[in-house]
Amino acid sequence: MYPRIEIDIKKIRHNTETLVKKCSNSNIKIAGVTKVFCADPVVAKAYVNGGVSAIADSRIQNLKKLKDINIEKWLLRLPAKSKIDEIIEYSDVSLNSEIEVIELLSNKAIEKNKIHQIIIMVDLGDLREGIFDREELFDIVNKIKNFKGIKIKGIGTNLTCYGGIIPKKDNLSELVKIKQGIEKIIDYKVETISGGNSSSLYLLDKGELPKGINQLRLGEALVLGRETAYGKPIENTYDDAFILKTEIIEIKTKPSVPIGEIGMDAFGNKPVFEDKGNMKRCICAIGRQDIDIDGLIPIDSNIKVIGASSDHLILDITKVKKDLKLGDIIDFKLTYGGILSATTSPYVIKKIV
Ligand SMILES: *Cc1c(COP(=O)(O)O)cnc(C)c1O
Repeated sequence: MYPRIEIDIKKIRHNTETLVKKCSNSNIKIAGVTKVFCADPVVAKAYVNGGVSAIADSRIQNLKKLKDINIEKWLLRLPAKSKIDEIIEYSDVSLNSEIEVIELLSNKAIEKNKIHQIIIMVDLGDLREGIFDREELFDIVNKIKNFKGIKIKGIGTNLTCYGGIIPKKDNLSELVKIKQGIEKIIDYKVETISGGNSSSLYLLDKGELPKGINQLRLGEALVLGRETAYGKPIENTYDDAFILKTEIIEIKTKPSVPIGEIGMDAFGNKPVFEDKGNMKRCICAIGRQDIDIDGLIPIDSNIKVIGASSDHLILDITKVKKDLKLGDIIDFKLTYGGILSATTSPYVIKKIV
């Protein structure tokens, strides 16, 4: 059945093992982030077999799907007040910045006879989530001290997401200082300093990740073998663990510029075309309703994606050496956005290989 996404879990496990080893040399643990593949339990297990110390997802529905996997679960997106009950039930650790919510978590944890662990999020300038004001931060820690259902497991930050700010020795060193400040207020050790996502990895290679940072939350690095500060491939990893397969439904030679007055395309944009003369084109049975078309990378580099509407993907196959036929399958590697959209699409069949 097509379109289909094939997930090679041996490659995912291999990528995980490579990164677990690389990070453990610097005493860093990894939380494997599952949101990009919609928390498929089989793929999540490949992370676990590869040696991650926790599983992390932004959605509590996803962590619920993974409840039978026996490993620490982290909720990455700040808890919504309306989901406190499920958060206490299905996550062991959550990332937090709001004292009002932390109090609700504490009360619910006490009710369920649990201790919920939190990572206090610090905004180091990317301006997405986290406490920006340091006075507010220590104020909050003073209040948390009295919450019987909460343990401060650690502090963390998230960069290169909204503001595109790159993690550096300078900004990440702040976390180490803040941790020391928190330990002066509470009477136990802060176990974890979570130094960001796949964009912090490049600092490891440069030996510039500040000492004290002992955990990273990795998604893209594990699924695509890429660090995300500069987009470089990581040595000894695969970038093709996820492959999208689509079927050809038309092959014809046509001009490269449409005939007639050009109005708007199916999405309200006025398209522009470059005249390359006649080209051999094919249509695959997949479109913008199925996945994010910009996330497709043809494995045969002679194939060029030239456009797509809701249900049709148009490819330039003029330079393809193989004699393609109707019903043949075209394979694509995927970007992060491509994997995200394909694994959450109800129109794309998922197959573990
Ligand atoms: C998605 C997410 C991550 C993982 O990011 P990658 O770039 O895929 O490594 C880490 N932390 C938080 C808070 C996230 O939302």
